[in-house]
Amino acid sequence: MGLPAYNIEPEHEELFRQMIHEEVDKWVDELLVAFDKDKQPTIMELSDLFTETRQKFLGAGFQKLIEQKYSDLLEQEYASCPKCGKPCKIRRYSSKQLETMQGPSSLNRPWFYCIDCSLGFSPLDKVLEISRKRHQFDVQKKAVNLSADVTFDRGSNIFKDLTGQNISAHFMHETFENVGAEAHLEDIIPSREQIEQKIQQASTGKWRPILVVASDGAHLPTRPKAGRNEKRGEGRWQEAKGFRIYLLGDERIIHVASWHQIQNEEQFGKDLLVAAARIPQQSVRIALLGDGASWLWKHMTSCFPKGREVLDYYHCVEHVYKVAEAQYGKDATKRLEWIESTICRLMFAEVDNVISGLSRMKHASNVAKEEIRKQLIYFTHNRDRIHYKSDRKGGYPIGSGGIESANKFICHTRMKRSGAWWVKETGNEMLRIRCAIYNGTYDKVFEKYKNANLPET
Ligand SMILES: [Zn+2]
Repeated sequence: MGLPAYNIEPEHEELFRQMIHEEVDKWVDELLVAFDKDKQPTIMELSDLFTETRQKFLGAGFQKLIEQKYSDLLEQEYASCPKCGKPCKIRRYSSKQLETMQGPSSLNRPWFYCIDCSLGFSPLDKVLEISRKRHQFDVQKKAVNLSADVTFDRGSNIFKDLTGQNISAHFMHETFENVGAEAHLEDIIPSREQIEQKIQQASTGKWRPILVVASDGAHLPTRPKAGRNEKRGEGRWQEAKGFRIYLLGDERIIHVASWHQIQNEEQFGKDLLVAAARIPQQSVRIALLGDGASWLWKHMTSCFPKGREVLDYYHCVEHVYKVAEAQYGKDATKRLEWIESTICRLMFAEVDNVISGLSRMKHASNVAKEEIRKQLIYFTHNRDRIHYKSDRKGGYPIGSGGIESANKFICHTRMKRSGAWWVKETGNEMLRIRCAIYNGTYDKVFEKYKNANLPET
């Protein structure tokens, strides 16, 4: 049930059955010779034997099915040129070795050539959507999905272990880059319809649901691109700027979209605008969350003019700690007292009180003086974003735990491995594919890649 019906002509069905029976016999032979009479194989041993041998059997069955289903295309003597329509006679049979998730198959299909258009073509390739690569799109899709989570070497091993297929780390890497190059923001961010559905899902109470837009930067290890024989250049840390958009549902967060790229703030702003344009802003209450970095506020407020600006509480508290550290140093009791009373005042929206307190503070040292000066600027600059008491009353979030964990998930887990330095372009491809998977748009992204790599004729 639920499976599409791929009908086959009755006479071909009969042939197909016969062929499959022959293949089963071959498989059975292979299974029978594998063990001595005296040997008593365990479940694991038997299962490994099946994993190893089933590829050949299934790949052959797969091939026979195509041969019967598309017998007319395989026996075709004339085909119309896809460009000019002129009938062309078959030139030769051309063999294509292919690997699918089922195993190895081989297709001997007719090849045509139009002299007028200087065009060679094979109609079966177009119908079957055969990839130029030996490993077909079904394998490519799974391989890229896997390498978004583990290194290419590890992915190659896992793939072999679970499927019995040999997929090199090089193939995984190369295909990953090919798909990454076709992965664009427009497809990675969910569509307006998808976002509207999620808003619907979050609209349970009498108030419009709260949509949180949280932005942040994460530093990633990068290195310049080097040629084959060149020495690797010096690595440096670059900032991946990103945002996460989510809805506050009844009991849980409903993820809407994540986007991270190593890029400048101008490009970040353009990207955020694409996402903002897909959100029906009048049907949600919008909260903008971030730390003190001015680039993110500039773009969040211009993309979401009605958004309520909230300075991320956890970042805010870090700044309180910095002052306390510099001013009270080793005096743990005084330090803690000051931290607690300051946080308390921040929670009760007495930010002006905190600011005037800081400006009157008698610095204990030059280090303290400098720290107080810096934090005074920070709190003065962000004073309009500190109103945690009313935020809580209105049900708004005060901390961007959401983006912090998205950053960890999207950027850190795959990208901050010891010894892993990313070329910016590859790093960005990795971020895009990880975002697509996280956003639930990977199918669409892969489809785009596939369509860009189909046989042209
Ligand atoms: Zn032609």
